[in-house]
Amino acid sequence: MTQMVIIGGGQAAGQTVASLRQEGFEGKIILIGDEPTLPYQRPPLSKAYLSGAVPAEKLLVRPEKFYQDRDIEVHLGETVTAIDPAQKTVTTAEGAFAYDKLLIATGSTPRRLSIPGSDLGGIHYLRTMADVDAIRDQMAQATRLCIVGGGYIGLEVASVAVSQGLSVDVLEMEERILQRVTTPFMSAFYQQLHESRGVTIHTQTGCSGFRGKDNAVTHVRCGETEIEADLVIVGIGIIPNIQLAHDAGLDCVQWHYR
Ligand SMILES: Cc1cc2nc3c(=O)[nH]c(=O)nc-3n(C[C@H](O)[C@H](O)[C@H](O)COP(=O)(O)OP(=O)(O)OC[C@H]3O[C@@H](n4cnc5c(N)ncnc54)[C@H](O)[C@@H]3O)c2cc1C
Repeated sequence: MTQMVIIGGGQAAGQTVASLRQEGFEGKIILIGDEPTLPYQRPPLSKAYLSGAVPAEKLLVRPEKFYQDRDIEVHLGETVTAIDPAQKTVTTAEGAFAYDKLLIATGSTPRRLSIPGSDLGGIHYLRTMADVDAIRDQMAQATRLCIVGGGYIGLEVASVAVSQGLSVDVLEMEERILQRVTTPFMSAFYQQLHESRGVTIHTQTGCSGFRGKDNAVTHVRCGETEIEADLVIVGIGIIPNIQLAHDAGLDCVQWHYR
């Protein structure tokens, strides 16, 4: 019997196992994901899940029963640390899993800031359900949110936060928000829309560091000026998780936008 192993528990992994069974694959399927949750959709995280309009169960690609009924072996909270293409095995802390076919669906990780103060409390990245749970807890008490990065995630969070009564500043180092993904006309449209709802957008403004008190962020530095903030969300892009494939000797191309 063919044994298929899927590394990663994101949307690609979740949809692949569903499609395999739907298309008649009868072999054994093993899904290994390092998050504690079954595969879920990330797009609502910065929108309806952050606002509390949609519960966690609604985000699942398939409910738990789907995996049980279709005999899909799921290992959650488990990280694949190595692939051995010669032996056709993958390694986790649980041991080795043999495969006939392997899918690497390890996705990506938020790009992190490494500047003065970037390890202060109250500075968040938004990629997982757990990230949003932590942000929501803090958002309930925060009054001043500063978002680093005027891309989709930053602006979606700005929209939710301003409607929950927070004061919101968005820092964008480029000349306009959404510069990488849309036209000047659309950037201007979205800037005006957010500003009309009370968001303050600072273009051509980079974040140079953070200041805090008692290990909690209080100010975001932008060169010579500072913006008050008791909550910071950084949305400055992602880095593909290719290390595992690279270490296994696969050809990987790391694409840099700039
Ligand atoms: C907040 C947010 C909003 C978004 N909104 C939109 C949108 O509106 N429209 C849109 O098209 N896209 C959106 N996206 C992007 C979209 O969610 C991604 O393109 C999609 O999640 C990619 O799915 P994936 O399964 O390839 O990777 P990922 O979702 O990154 O999943 C990969 C999984 O593999 C796990 N993993 C990594 N390495 C290992 C390992 N060694 N062992 C085990 N597990 C491992 C990771 O922890 C992760 O759980 C959004 C993303 C975010 C974060």
